[in-house]
Amino acid sequence: EQNEWGALKDEQTVSTDGRHFKVVANVGTLAEIVDARQNGAEGIGLVRSEFLYARDEHFPSEDGQTKAYKQFLTEMPGQRVVIRTLDIGGDKKLGSLNLPQENNPFLGFRAIRIGLARPEVLRPQLRALLRSSVYGQLAIMFPMIATIEEFRQARQILDEERQRLIEQGVSVADDIEVGMMLEIPSSAVMADAFAREVDFFSIGSNDLIQYLFAADRGNSQVAYLYQELHPAVLRLVKQVIDAAHAEGKWVSMCGEMAGNPLATPLLMAMGLDEFSMNSSNILHIRSLINQLNTRQLQPLVHKAINAATASEVEQMIRQEVPQVR
Ligand code: PEP
Ligand code: MG
Repeated sequence: EQNEWGALKDEQTVSTDGRHFKVVANVGTLAEIVDARQNGAEGIGLVRSEFLYARDEHFPSEDGQTKAYKQFLTEMPGQRVVIRTLDIGGDKKLGSLNLPQENNPFLGFRAIRIGLARPEVLRPQLRALLRSSVYGQLAIMFPMIATIEEFRQARQILDEERQRLIEQGVSVADDIEVGMMLEIPSSAVMADAFAREVDFFSIGSNDLIQYLFAADRGNSQVAYLYQELHPAVLRLVKQVIDAAHAEGKWVSMCGEMAGNPLATPLLMAMGLDEFSMNSSNILHIRSLINQLNTRQLQPLVHKAINAATASEVEQMIRQEVPQVR
């Protein structure tokens, strides 16, 4: 089985009816890029940039960040690398920022909320990303966007920094895609409006499911509510994909659900363009996609979103898609 998948390392990801997908990697450090390449990643769908800040108590300099982002890009020549701006708060702590204690950190001051409130954090990171952009195919992604205004503000800051760099004679790529994590239910509901303004969405199923079921993603007492195959999740995911495609935008998923083989038939039939996951899952998911037919799976999608429970959905998938082992 390992060998069967190994042969897929340099293959494309394409369904039996000829639809192309991308299976890409989530990485948290530069070292993980090696794993991604060894497992045949067709790009990087999520760089969690927090690692740069977590390394020590000091805040990374703009130059230090530029160097790191440049390395990610040069390690993946010709392939897209999506780098997410700082996503701290909630489960991700950071000593050097001195953030206040909160009663509900997951519902509090985190991610882009910090970035917008503390421009001295966001601006150097965006400058570093822009400066690195000439070394590869960079996409920039903002985390935890809840409203259109937040996205506009973040994009505005990015445009200002780009302008500033250009005036200083620094070269900046002119084809950087700018997108957002789709991981808050309000944004999923408003996906059609967001789709007019972004270049892409990346569905953060980890947070999206947590907020949808009001169940802390790290609390085992409520883990039974964390249901990737629940029709409520599937309906939202489908709505997001349809909204993006209606505006000609692409959609990735970078939460754990993207690497769950039970979800693969549904996600590919819904037209998810990119599956971003831990490198160890890449070849399995590619092998599955390469055995399935998106057209034949359409009735299953219809049945799944009209089911009442996650276990009904799981049963249908196991019954109708024997390739999912
Ligand atoms: C997610 O929320 O699904 C996600 C990919 O981001 P993180 O796990 O880093 O919060
Ligand atoms: Mg998240």
